[in-house]
Amino acid sequence: MVVLCPGEDAAGTLALLERLTPGDGALGPPVVLLTPPEHRPLWVEALRRGAEVVFDPWAPDELLSRVHRALAVHARMEALATQVGELQRLSATDGLTGVHNHRHFQERLREEFRRAQRYDDALSLILLDLDFFKEINDKYGHSAGDGVLRAVAGALTRGVRETDLVARYGGEEFALLLPRTHFTGALTVAERVRRELRALTLDVDAGLQVTASLGVSSFPHRTVLSPEQLLLTADEALYQAKRDGRDRICLHPQLPMGPSGT
Ligand code: GH3
Ligand code: MG
Ligand code: MG
Repeated sequence: MVVLCPGEDAAGTLALLERLTPGDGALGPPVVLLTPPEHRPLWVEALRRGAEVVFDPWAPDELLSRVHRALAVHARMEALATQVGELQRLSATDGLTGVHNHRHFQERLREEFRRAQRYDDALSLILLDLDFFKEINDKYGHSAGDGVLRAVAGALTRGVRETDLVARYGGEEFALLLPRTHFTGALTVAERVRRELRALTLDVDAGLQVTASLGVSSFPHRTVLSPEQLLLTADEALYQAKRDGRDRICLHPQLPMGPSGT
């Protein structure tokens, strides 16, 4: 809580008030202005900025209620900011797996593509689809399938850097967006992730092995001139990996890589 008493320095107090109540969405401290009524431009501006105003000479009971009101309003604003933050987090999160959702992925894909273009930087995308996932649902039930999706999301999150983005793209399909990463780096990540998924021990059946097919595409590339093209080419590479027998990585636009063996 800040109590401003301008005395003769109305201009200095106004400058301080502006710093304390920036008005750019940031929540400053609660402010009470104790001022003679003659400083009219100052207290009008203070009211506009959400500060409490008490005129000099002040009465203790009035000052006390203004201070209480300033603190109560500030506490409500803080609670609201926390709720907004939580809602923003939820609106970007996939409810089943806890990784980012499709909508958030699309936003970040566009942002990161713009950034990579502007700064002449690399950007890679890995699309990953679990192999024969329907069989897992059919054999163990849908809720066991959900558990597998959660375990896969956890493995993917552990397998990338904090600056990378893991998202559930759709049912049993995930996207890994790798800023500042060329295709060689993306291939390393893809191979690590492919192996980690194969090695994953699942609660539903310790003997069950999940495998995935992965498509990789990178910017800059002569056929990748937009975020849509990055997505499309990664998707084409993914379907090439499926056609070639699954449990493997394909890179746009090179020829599909041979079976990865282990
Ligand atoms: P492929 O190797 O060709 O990808 O085979 P697949 O069985 O993985 O592919 P298909 O598209 O035939 O089946 C996808 C399955 O994923 C079917 C669908 O029920 C399941 N699935 C999608 N979303 C969820 C989910 O949220 N939970 C569970 N348990 N299963 C899901
Ligand atoms: Mg699948
Ligand atoms: Mg699929």
